[in-house]
Amino acid sequence: MATHSRDPILLTPGPLTTALETKTAMLRDWGSWDASFNAITANVRKRLLDIVRGHATHVCVPMQGSGTFSVEAAVNSTVPRDGHLLVLVNGAYGKRLAKLARMMGRRVSMFETADDVPTTAEDVDRLLAKDASITHVGLIHCETSTGILNPLPGIAAVVARHGRRLIVDAMSSFGALPIDLEATPIDVVIAASGKCIEGPPGMGFAIVRRSTLEGCEGRSSSLALDLHDQWVYMEKTTQWRYTPPTHVVAAFAAALEQHAAEGGQPARLARYTANGQALFEGMRSLGFRSFLDASIQAPIIYTFHAPADPGYEFKRFYAEVRDRGFILYPGKLTQLETFRVGCIGAIGPSEMRQAVLAIGDALRAMGIRTVTPAAARAVA
Ligand SMILES: *Cc1c(COP(=O)(O)O)cnc(C)c1O
Repeated sequence: MATHSRDPILLTPGPLTTALETKTAMLRDWGSWDASFNAITANVRKRLLDIVRGHATHVCVPMQGSGTFSVEAAVNSTVPRDGHLLVLVNGAYGKRLAKLARMMGRRVSMFETADDVPTTAEDVDRLLAKDASITHVGLIHCETSTGILNPLPGIAAVVARHGRRLIVDAMSSFGALPIDLEATPIDVVIAASGKCIEGPPGMGFAIVRRSTLEGCEGRSSSLALDLHDQWVYMEKTTQWRYTPPTHVVAAFAAALEQHAAEGGQPARLARYTANGQALFEGMRSLGFRSFLDASIQAPIIYTFHAPADPGYEFKRFYAEVRDRGFILYPGKLTQLETFRVGCIGAIGPSEMRQAVLAIGDALRAMGIRTVTPAAARAVA
């Protein structure tokens, strides 16, 4: 048991470590009908559109729940019941998107590449040329199961050229990686409060092309996750349709204010890039190899091969690192033993270097000498 009382630093890509101003914004109770709370909601919606330059074409609809609730609401509310969704998969979140669409009765096709292979615009061009029945394409911008970045602008251009619609799960990229709705044709962008904007978890949102959403009445097969209804109600009353997560909304507004004060998306990307670099270099000096090639790695979360040493066990490793003040994330690959380290949240490169020290210390406590995985040793 650790005896220190400091909160651990979360190197998990949501929930993540938030700033003190974000936490203290939750120390107040809000009435959901009160004008002061509704002004916060309006401010959040405006700031989210600012980040992706969506004001001219899109609207922002917040939704209660974790990120998946917003993905489910967006798909269920925008894909017609007789639509056909092509999901581009290279990890667990792509599979989840396909699964939820299928469960809602939509026709779904999957195009799957390996966990370390991005989908390309050429892939999508070929798939759409071959199948005219595909109405929508679903893409995971940064696939958080590894940290791989898929080439959004190129894919968006191809989907638009074929006259289909693009739904982007930008959960772990929104606010950090560039998304420009004035330059990139995207119908729906989905993200949540507890990722790169650095709010607490508890609400998501979909940024939907206005002309699309206007035609979505009655499409949803779910009452609670009806994005069109939420939007119409919010426009009419300024309120959320059902009980909002008031404290989360207030903290999210504070986090958005800090995001803007820091310098917006470019500044956040610069900090996360510095975090990722500090992590990558520190881990390499300990002997770790990262799973992804640097050219396709997003500065959001890194996947590392587990140490080859027979004394390694993730549960013990996790506990040792946690007792030193840092929370790691298990790997999400079925074929390979890995673990993940997030580099997002209200932290900088010095916290990443401290995390590397804690990891090195944990390895020593476990008596682990061989860190480099066998496969990587053979190549090197
Ligand atoms: C976090 C995340 C989600 C949503 O997951 P929840 O557990 O519902 O918050 C969806 N897609 C991606 C790519 C994510 O990183």
